[in-house]
Amino acid sequence: MPVALIYITESGRSLAEKLTGLYPGARVTKFAAAAVPRLWETHERLVFIMAAGIVVRTIAPLVRDKKHDPAVVVLDEKGRFAVSLLSGHLGGANEAAREIAEFLGGEAVITTASDVNRLPSLDLWARDNGLLIEEWERLPGIGTRFLDKGVLPVYTEIDIPLPDAFRRVSEPFRAEVLITNRENVYQEGTSGPRHRGGQLYLRPRNLVLGIGCNSRTPLEEIEEAVKGVLHAANLAFASVRSVATIDIKAKEPGLAAFAEKYSFPLDSFTPAELNRVPGPARSEAVFRATGAHAVSEPAALLAAAEGALLIVPKQKVGNVTVAAAAQKYYTGKRDGEHMGKSALYIVGTGPGSIDHITPYAQSVIRKSDVIVGYGTYLDLIPELIRDKEVFATGMTKETDRCRKAVELALAGKTVTVISGGDPGIYAMAGLVFEMLKAAPAGAGRCPENGTGGTTEDSLPHVEVIPGISALNACASRLGAPLMHDFACISLSDRLTPWETIEKRLTAAATADFVVVLYNPKSMGRQEHISTARAIMLKHRSTETPVGLVKAAMRPEERVVLTNLRDMLNHEIDMQTTVIIGNSKTFIWEGWMLTPRGYENKPGA
Ligand code: SAH
Repeated sequence: MPVALIYITESGRSLAEKLTGLYPGARVTKFAAAAVPRLWETHERLVFIMAAGIVVRTIAPLVRDKKHDPAVVVLDEKGRFAVSLLSGHLGGANEAAREIAEFLGGEAVITTASDVNRLPSLDLWARDNGLLIEEWERLPGIGTRFLDKGVLPVYTEIDIPLPDAFRRVSEPFRAEVLITNRENVYQEGTSGPRHRGGQLYLRPRNLVLGIGCNSRTPLEEIEEAVKGVLHAANLAFASVRSVATIDIKAKEPGLAAFAEKYSFPLDSFTPAELNRVPGPARSEAVFRATGAHAVSEPAALLAAAEGALLIVPKQKVGNVTVAAAAQKYYTGKRDGEHMGKSALYIVGTGPGSIDHITPYAQSVIRKSDVIVGYGTYLDLIPELIRDKEVFATGMTKETDRCRKAVELALAGKTVTVISGGDPGIYAMAGLVFEMLKAAPAGAGRCPENGTGGTTEDSLPHVEVIPGISALNACASRLGAPLMHDFACISLSDRLTPWETIEKRLTAAATADFVVVLYNPKSMGRQEHISTARAIMLKHRSTETPVGLVKAAMRPEERVVLTNLRDMLNHEIDMQTTVIIGNSKTFIWEGWMLTPRGYENKPGA
């Protein structure tokens, strides 16, 4: 592949010569604007070792389109940055920039969306979400188009969070990828073409078969009956997740062999459990033989758990009855596998600006289906929650919010509970755990037996994601007031008796802790902060530095440096955190500083 290495200066020339080690036979030539059009026509890769501006001006009249233009890479004279300037994908400039950077020990500068966004790989994503790829041979074509376009149109019939680069489309024919348990997404029946173009089916495993059979029915007969019934209903066999039956049939050899052949978990239910399921057609004969009024329909519904839909009513084929239920909530991989289990994230969003939320917290919020939180905190992060289902109630409805969050997570959703600051500091984390602990039996989906109850298996994945607390944010605005031992006390007596708060204030004051006060004006009550100040004054001088930080990292931020004598002359509200220095704290150049003790230990 013809490569031209074009330089201006002497050091550019030696760099170009060095690069012939990477591109043997490359043409090394001194830059002349008039010669570039010819190089443009005759070379597939042009590497310019000079300022990007010169290159842009020179090639501007030559640029046509990405199918025809050569790859253009700009390299600085020191070889530190290899910039992919033109024809990044098809032309190969990204690849060239990477090769050159690697060869020279520099860095490649790539700006094409798909590379920058590090597009997810479809097969890994499918695997991680328990989706079966039906025709592997179609995958490479889709991958290439995905890379070229940077977006992947996906049609899905299940509720599943998609990576940012996937675009949800509402019509199957607009999609590259079809996520459906229907054998043919275009028809009610199964005749007619199943694809348009190179489309790929991904199969969610969300069908549960309810099966009843006579004794000694062979595996083959069961298999044939199941496949026939599913095909007639336009359902993909690959979407079968598990099999369910009545307890007395759990060891029926043909049925057990069928489940084993396809690694389907086999759930079984007692007649009493089956009879509790409302609705299904009843059979006198079945009742006499088994004690259950029906088997296949209620077994499928029970195993598919809460909200399941009976999509194939009982069909009798010879010795076999088959029914199928579709799960309401998609839980990804089969039971027992962790992926796809619902999740409950307890996330701290920091003091108030997006920049102060950790990237991990942001990614968790993005992948959640539902956000639960207090309105004010949610208002601070509109970009993150735009497309989410949101549950926000007033400040004092914390228990309602947490209960809702737990309910939704138990029902299979990925839920994020948002707290400002850190979720574990005067916030929601503790309450969420209490609600989880107390979740009523029957609240959770219990995939093992479909009967509900919060067993180990039905508990969602729970994770607490820390945030920058007000004490970190406010201390940073003041300087370094928390360099030594400090105590953190909330003046809110909504959940703590006021006497306890006073006791703690006294203890902290006597022990010379720096004191951080949260909720200094709980419920608008001014006397809390005056009492706190009076307690501190019993043990500290009137000159003790005090920092008042209101709305740190928010647009209305205000920072005031004062002392114990004057602090009440300033505004202290619900959005303020108060930091009271210890006996050593001092103010220098507008900063509040608590010495760590280095000054007494010169060698430290
Ligand atoms: N979980 C939160 C605290 C909630 S209690 C955290 O870790 O920060 C609410 C109190 O926190 C407020 O009354 C105020 O004292 C303090 N606070 C929260 N955000 C603040 C901010 N941006 N600036 C100053 N104080 C703040």
